[in-house]
Amino acid sequence: MSVPTFEPLAPERRKLPIVELVRCTRCGLPETYETIEFDSAGVCNICRQKEFRDVEIDWPARKKMLADLVEQYRGKHEYDCIIPFSGGKDSTFTLYYLVREFGIKPLVVQFNHGFMRPTLLKNNERTFRQLGVEVLSFTPNWKVVKRVMLESLIRKGDFCWHCHTGIYSYPMHVALKYNTPLIFWGEPSSEYTAYYDYRDDAVEEVDETRFNRFINLGITAEDMAGMISHDFKFDPRDLAPFTYPPVRDLRRLGYRSVSLGSYIPWDVRTQAQLIQDELGWQGDEVENMPPGLYRYEKIECYVQGVRDYIKYLKRGYNRVTQMTALDLRNGRIEKAEADRLVREFENKRPPSLDIFLEYLDITEEEFNNIVLNTVVPPFQPDFDAITPGKKTWDFDMWYREK
Ligand SMILES: [Zn+2]
Repeated sequence: MSVPTFEPLAPERRKLPIVELVRCTRCGLPETYETIEFDSAGVCNICRQKEFRDVEIDWPARKKMLADLVEQYRGKHEYDCIIPFSGGKDSTFTLYYLVREFGIKPLVVQFNHGFMRPTLLKNNERTFRQLGVEVLSFTPNWKVVKRVMLESLIRKGDFCWHCHTGIYSYPMHVALKYNTPLIFWGEPSSEYTAYYDYRDDAVEEVDETRFNRFINLGITAEDMAGMISHDFKFDPRDLAPFTYPPVRDLRRLGYRSVSLGSYIPWDVRTQAQLIQDELGWQGDEVENMPPGLYRYEKIECYVQGVRDYIKYLKRGYNRVTQMTALDLRNGRIEKAEADRLVREFENKRPPSLDIFLEYLDITEEEFNNIVLNTVVPPFQPDFDAITPGKKTWDFDMWYREK
């Protein structure tokens, strides 16, 4: 694989003036957050969406819709439904809830992005055995994954294209192969973005429109094939797991692809506690997250720390802000404590960056240049303010390329 050449980092871009971002007066999310808008009180649309969710949605009626949907498909196909499964708290809860509440027979479909951590693997095994479910796991070609990670990092400042597209498209292929039209995802996107609003639709469909709108970063598998073909040898079929299947085939199957969170109010903290108590599901530490807090969040992937770091360099915030925003919105944390956590943990370099640079075969200078090209104004990163983060307990168990 030949690495693209990069412009050397201009000295004036190394040290940039600090820009104060406009933030939601309630939850602290900044103006660089995707889809954010502020009203005249300075409160963001995601906070307003939550008020609507809590007050105006008839959740008992939604639950009845869910029961009707399950009955409509029960016993008629190879499986009652497909449940895409990462092993994180949301998909584990979704599987737990549907099996325990409705006695459903699902096919669990797992797309292995290549970075699964030891605690996650243990959790998965325990969950599958405790619930008594059948599981299909798929792992794409690692050489292809590495090349498309580099390409999507360069083009979008987001290396997770293979993961976004694979997680959402592969289960749809499985739905067709196993003649199983009902697909249950977990968390509704209305919880964390305003791409889809609780107000817009009765129930948000997790379909090709959503896939193209914000899952695939605006890059189809065909686009990707064209982008990497000049320097990377591959079989066109290598990219098939990242394509959305033809919608006419899905329509013929009579598919419904929905989020459980459209039918029951989503509460990550309570749900994480429930799967801990009922299934023995375990949280984990995550690079550069406050120790002891949010141990149920994003434990699925050992390059999560790099993803968070890129977000910080591009947009001036990362998951510390997102998690404290959720807690502020729910009245679970004081503003001063949220600000302290953000100050202390957000500007750290993750140790997993070393492993990541090995995979992509690029230098840190090249990495910084790529990220600088995708910075979201008015934010400007200050590399001199970055301090080293701590390794997690399982760092030495992660796959090394060299
Ligand atoms: Zn807000």
